[in-house]
Amino acid sequence: MISPNDERRLGAVAAGVEADIDAAVGAARAAFDAGDGWPNWPADKRAAAMESLADALDRRSKQLAQAVSAQNGMPIAIAGRLEAVFPSVLLRYYAQLGAEQSDTERPGLLGGSTTITRTPVGVAAAIVPWNFPQVLSAFKYAPGLAAGCTFVIKPAPETVFDAGLFAEAVAESDIPPGVINVVPGGSRTGAYLVSHPGVDKVAFTGSTHVGRQIARTCGELLRPVTLELGGKSAAIILDDADLDLGVVGEKLFAATLLNNGQTCFIGTRILAPRSRYTEVVDTVTALAASLTVGDSLDPATQIGPLVSARQRDRVESAIAAATPRGVRLTTGGTRPPGRDTGWFVAPTVFADVDNDDVIAREEIFGPVLTIIGYDDDDDAVRIANANAYGLGGSVWTTDPDRGLAVARRVRSGTVGVNHYLPDPTAPFGGVKASGLGRELGPEGLAAYQEIKSIYRG
Ligand code: NAD
Repeated sequence: MISPNDERRLGAVAAGVEADIDAAVGAARAAFDAGDGWPNWPADKRAAAMESLADALDRRSKQLAQAVSAQNGMPIAIAGRLEAVFPSVLLRYYAQLGAEQSDTERPGLLGGSTTITRTPVGVAAAIVPWNFPQVLSAFKYAPGLAAGCTFVIKPAPETVFDAGLFAEAVAESDIPPGVINVVPGGSRTGAYLVSHPGVDKVAFTGSTHVGRQIARTCGELLRPVTLELGGKSAAIILDDADLDLGVVGEKLFAATLLNNGQTCFIGTRILAPRSRYTEVVDTVTALAASLTVGDSLDPATQIGPLVSARQRDRVESAIAAATPRGVRLTTGGTRPPGRDTGWFVAPTVFADVDNDDVIAREEIFGPVLTIIGYDDDDDAVRIANANAYGLGGSVWTTDPDRGLAVARRVRSGTVGVNHYLPDPTAPFGGVKASGLGRELGPEGLAAYQEIKSIYRG
């Protein structure tokens, strides 16, 4: 493991092999299938165990934030607010939701009646990426545990130290052995887990390319799967938007550049009305240029390094390919001054971009924004929707009704008006190439349940 901040060696963790996955799936299977296993615990006892895991995570919140930030370059201020907090909030939310579940009775139209009950789907394989490793694991295990599922979690090779801390917290909590198993490893380990005969459901967050491979495997096996994939969302600035950075700067930053641009749902295509085009370009450029770039563990840092040399090279190639295509670089485009060590890229803005340009079509996963002009609201919606992805997005306006009306027309799983961050209660996920299914909210719990009808004559 190499530090993205200064390229020093941070340490190493052995990668899991097939035998480790076999052992982990075996443990999860046993914890699920036993007569007194996890799904058969009374819901309030399961809820108490989940709360004890939340407490164990809270006791490690500082260490977890630091481990994530040191490995993937996430600014520590963001890791402290999201990675260190969201998982225990989710555990407590789903503990309560799980305890409130009840059966439904339906009188039959042809006599008799039916009890409709929800049963856990079984052993779940959770495969997560490096960009928000703790949060995205919790998106899966928090609802899954509440449903009564047991888990094998495979973190990404880039973020394994925090996964180790998480496993420690599980061992310290009242979650019984076998219910949550963590096996670090790469793509081969992940692929082996996805097709393992002991697995009943797969929950994946990562690239669209790998998501398609997993979908193919699960399709063949008829295995339920949830896929949270890439994005290239639009931030639509309406012509009445407040562009005062003192008012909207922080929210615009979170909705477009969060986590060094390594966030799947951010609006990296900024759609600017032609009537205020220059003003929007100046505002977005000023925002990007004002950000403090630095070591991810420095609390003042707003943009840290990218996760790896490979990711930095990908982002630099995308920037280099865009420049000769007539787009206008308004800030960034290079490594930040004095940051030749570590995987840094300066916040970069391209104006005069056409929605068909490669830089506007493909996910960059770095601090790179593109600005695209539009004529009217219909044109903005048309451009926002003319993309293979459909994960997030935002609408910026001083008229909330108009914002809501435009947000409704964006083909995307989630959209924000004047802000955007996922909330535990709000279903999250994508349409089109951004994935299948939803996490979070009651819908996220349903993703770990089968519906069963018990007919009584
Ligand atoms: P990736 O798809 O390469 O890897 C994600 C995870 O899948 C890792 O744990 C990896 O080891 C594992 N993996 C890789 N190949 C596999 C295979 N064949 N079978 C099973 N597992 C395999 O993605 P990445 O580059 O690590 O993450 C960045 C991508 O994730 C971006 O495209 C981003 O948009 C997406 N992402 C999406 C969301 C979302 O909620 N929609 C959230 C975060 C990241």
